[in-house]
Amino acid sequence: MAKKNKWIADHITDNEYHLYKVKKVLVDKETDYQHVKFIETKDYGKCLYLNDHIQFAEKDEYIYHELLIHPALITHPEPKKVLVIGGGDGFALREILKHNTVKEVIVVDIDMQVVELMSELNGKYFQDKRVKMIYGDGRKYLEDTSEIYDVIVLDLSEPVKDGPSNLLFTKEFYNIVKKKLSKIGLMVVQAISPIHPYRKIHIAIYNTLCYIFPIVKLFYAYIPSYGTEWGFAIASKKYDPENLTKDEIEKRLTKRYIKGLKYYYSDLHKGLFTIPKDLLNDINLNKKLIITDKKPLFV
Ligand code: SAM
Repeated sequence: MAKKNKWIADHITDNEYHLYKVKKVLVDKETDYQHVKFIETKDYGKCLYLNDHIQFAEKDEYIYHELLIHPALITHPEPKKVLVIGGGDGFALREILKHNTVKEVIVVDIDMQVVELMSELNGKYFQDKRVKMIYGDGRKYLEDTSEIYDVIVLDLSEPVKDGPSNLLFTKEFYNIVKKKLSKIGLMVVQAISPIHPYRKIHIAIYNTLCYIFPIVKLFYAYIPSYGTEWGFAIASKKYDPENLTKDEIEKRLTKRYIKGLKYYYSDLHKGLFTIPKDLLNDINLNKKLIITDKKPLFV
């Protein structure tokens, strides 16, 4: 590696790293919950790394965040009340606020220092009068609240040993999420990469969701700054995202005055839920992989 601070690494495994050339180190510190690095890179603009895993890059974050939010929100006929757990960077919030049906968004992030760091980029979305920010553990919040949501978004950092999100990928937690959704509610989760070496964790997230919800659909996008494909899952009580017609998607986008999206549109939605054959085979071979509080999985 070149001189100190010239490169920043996304730790994929002990045998594999993704290196980015650094323009400027903006922040490099330990918070109460995680190691935070905010780095201006040569090719991807400003990037956030938590515990050495990239969270977003300015240049292509729209791919991840449009996919995390729009397929789920469009599937709900009238999402009014939305909860985001994690997502302290504010990008998921930016996309949610584009749906004019949404009257209330609660964001629960454990780490105030991440949210404050991101305020330069996304502070304005947290100022929207529909938004309420709560600092704390997302699981504890859901266990204690009596509120019911139309859509719950889990935009969490990857589960890493001793990390803050480990118990938010488990069967017990997804059961709490289900209870806090309305009768026609749905949730969406960033479900880690489906590519080696994360495939088993990705499949385990899918199986665990299937254990709790009647409808679960996986979908994917290649994110250049991650250097790999990324997985998402919608888990729903009533509406299947795959059953929406192209006409209905376009009608909802128009009715909600959603314009200027860079990645998501009706044709993309229609092709989104087809899973490659090798992944389908691996899902079938690993049906017993379930994540529980007693047996969490780590990347
Ligand atoms: N886009 C990202 C990715 O690719 O992984 C995830 C978005 S985001 C920056 C992840 C957020 O989850 C962080 O701000 C972190 O503080 C938050 N988080 C982790 N564990 C949490 C927990 N138990 N409760 C609430 N927020 C949590």
